[in-house]
Amino acid sequence: MPAQVSVSRLGPRATAYVQPDGGWFLNNAGWITGSERTVVVDTCATETRTRRLLDALAAHTATPRAPLVAALTHAHGDHTNGARLVTDAGGTVLATEAAAEVVASGPHTYPSVFACTTWGDISPPETTETITAPLRLDLGGTTAEVIPVTGPAHTDGDLVVWHPDDGVLFTGDLLSHGVVPLGLHGSLSGWLSTLDWLTGFDARWIVPGHGPVTPADQGLVPKVAEYLTWLLDTASRVQDPNDPRADREARARWPHWIDAERHVANLHVAHAEVHGYPLDTAGALKAMLAATGEETISLDL
Ligand SMILES: [Zn+2]
Repeated sequence: MPAQVSVSRLGPRATAYVQPDGGWFLNNAGWITGSERTVVVDTCATETRTRRLLDALAAHTATPRAPLVAALTHAHGDHTNGARLVTDAGGTVLATEAAAEVVASGPHTYPSVFACTTWGDISPPETTETITAPLRLDLGGTTAEVIPVTGPAHTDGDLVVWHPDDGVLFTGDLLSHGVVPLGLHGSLSGWLSTLDWLTGFDARWIVPGHGPVTPADQGLVPKVAEYLTWLLDTASRVQDPNDPRADREARARWPHWIDAERHVANLHVAHAEVHGYPLDTAGALKAMLAATGEETISLDL
């Protein structure tokens, strides 16, 4: 268990919930609270971690008994596995149509890739409300905006949550900070266009999907864009997505980013995308596991 989950108030209404060190399944969440209700952005990977998130939220909000609205930034299990706890408590879960479909078919724990014994009860919620257009949520004295991303990016069903009053943008995994971004389920070129769109928000703070919160003017968006561009450029030059020189170059260019085994998987994604063939997801995962030198990635969640 992590010693230090950090709960950071970014303004009168918006709070970030950051789980160090932001690696596999250690996602960020957060909430925006008004006088009537609260929207929580994402849940956590395990039952225990989600309970801890919801307890922290209740301790920090003026309306702990009001039903919650959970906005899921995308379908990946680290962000969504706890959604059932929200509906069990009388709350509502919101997601894009594509994400809702994946969540409903879960939970997804990828046992061929990850070894973990601490998921708890992570059965999916019975109902998820879907959004196809930007939604303004009146929370009482303040408004949160839940905005679907147009087209595939990190996944094919991403959304962002924007709180104009505090200038806080919750991006989900469209942005990772100090962690290699993972591109297995979306489109790298679509993701690049989406990063461009993110710069149009007049944000003061960015809450990425993994890693520390950052002021919006500190260059995280261009950093992630540089990486995605490098993936596409490199993949267009190599014959084989497993070319070890490409992986070595990525590790040398971004030496401080954790979960470096993801570079290999991302190079498979980029190679398929630029050369126009369907991604062999199982092959990309196998190459990623080979890069770890282990049979599975052990998760201590
Ligand atoms: Zn994700």
